[in-house]
Amino acid sequence: MSSTRRLDSRPPHFDSRPPHLDSRPPHLDSRPPWRVETSAFAAIIVGGGAAGLVAAAFSTGRALVLERLDRPGAKLLATGGGRCNVTHDTDAADIVAAFGKRARFMTDALRRWPPADIRRFLADHGVPTVVESDGCVFPASGRAADVRDALVAAARRAGAEIRCGVKVARILLDEAGTAVRGVETACGEVLTAPRIVLAAGGRAWPSLGSDGSGLALAREAGLSLVPPTPALVPLVAAESWMSDLAGLSCPDAAVSIEPRGRAVRGPLLFTHRGLSGPAVLALSGDVAHALAEDSPTRLRIAFRADWTDADWLAAFSAWRTAHGARLVRNLLAEALPKALAHRLCERAEIGEDVVAARLDRAAALALAEFCAACPVAIAGTEGWDRAMVTRGGVALSELDPRTLESRRVAGLRVAGELVDLDAPCGGYNLTWAFASGRLAIEAQPPFNA
Ligand SMILES: Cc1cc2nc3c(=O)[nH]c(=O)nc-3n(C[C@H](O)[C@H](O)[C@H](O)COP(=O)(O)OP(=O)(O)OC[C@H]3O[C@@H](n4cnc5c(N)ncnc54)[C@H](O)[C@@H]3O)c2cc1C
Repeated sequence: MSSTRRLDSRPPHFDSRPPHLDSRPPHLDSRPPWRVETSAFAAIIVGGGAAGLVAAAFSTGRALVLERLDRPGAKLLATGGGRCNVTHDTDAADIVAAFGKRARFMTDALRRWPPADIRRFLADHGVPTVVESDGCVFPASGRAADVRDALVAAARRAGAEIRCGVKVARILLDEAGTAVRGVETACGEVLTAPRIVLAAGGRAWPSLGSDGSGLALAREAGLSLVPPTPALVPLVAAESWMSDLAGLSCPDAAVSIEPRGRAVRGPLLFTHRGLSGPAVLALSGDVAHALAEDSPTRLRIAFRADWTDADWLAAFSAWRTAHGARLVRNLLAEALPKALAHRLCERAEIGEDVVAARLDRAAALALAEFCAACPVAIAGTEGWDRAMVTRGGVALSELDPRTLESRRVAGLRVAGELVDLDAPCGGYNLTWAFASGRLAIEAQPPFNA
């Protein structure tokens, strides 16, 4: 921090050192002559999204939020289809579990701000919440804007300043590269603070602000990254047989990744390019990861989660006895969406005129497999533009889970989606963004650090 003090003692509006004589590592401090330095802050929060606004709401002293878009919380407005699934009606341990094996890292943040306390905070700020039958928690008004506005108001009440339309271009470090000094904006303005909370999101849905620049800022500051891949993203099928099923849904499907991937049960939706819906979205991060490693990726789909191929075979046999004169495709259409039923019969090479009594064993076996474990080759995902979260980001090993501070760079804290943690739909990702934003601004460095 000594160099920060030296910097502060210089004339505030210009830097007299000729850039070519600058002996510091260029990525740390190669300051162009037009750079303007302004007064110091207690903390600078990079990104006015869910994590950044919460950090600001719990800030003390003079905090500054820098947001590249012209308004804070743009992504929040789009969450939950405009209703904002703020959290899940469960305890901290359950939230941690939703993020998978490595997520013990989150325990301190979630203990400090568990879902019930997040709901209480929102209610205290004029946004009561309700729990839906699946445990998802929404504002009672059904308006994501209420959540965003409450966080902005709380941040302002805490004394934080929010500057929009300001993109942070660099994190500035001291000479040794071991402590933060401040940030430089894309316009060349230098703002100093002993604590920087990097809450700039990942790469998902960049039109809502998170354009990946947070990842670049973290990397340039010396933090190592787990390569980002899109998650909670619709998948593009490599097969064309389902292209005209767009809009159809199966309310209780089970989807797994071949060969032995976990199965996820839930609604499945056919899209113009492939598959979506909660069951598919939940697996999409694993699929994107496999595709990034050039592994051929195939899903297996049970269009009715609780029916095995043996159950389907038993049903066909019952049809043969009770409805022998009826068309197989029409009988199947009573168990599955009609267009899907017809398409599965075609795939099993069962003609339009085949009645239940004439369904032979081979055709019945083929149809049962298409209903209970339909193979679908996946060509890709719909990419960052349609991804709801980022998998990967700042490696957990880089951060102290007690403070979310970098182990290499004192004063640099990382919160929200930028950290290498992601969870399925259900309010989990916002819960992490909120809880990590609060921890990142509040936690004091441990004495034994
Ligand atoms: C369509 C959609 C729906 C979703 N619905 C839900 C839901 O209902 N429930 C749920 O739990 N999760 C949901 N999510 C995921 C959730 O929104 C994110 O996990 C969460 O917003 C992450 O918060 P964050 O603050 O880390 O990042 P963000 O919300 O992405 O905020 C980062 C902010 O930083 C700004 N920024 C980026 N780079 C810079 C820079 N260089 N300088 C200055 N500012 C910068 C961005 O403009 C942005 O405002 C949804 C995501 C999407 C895309």
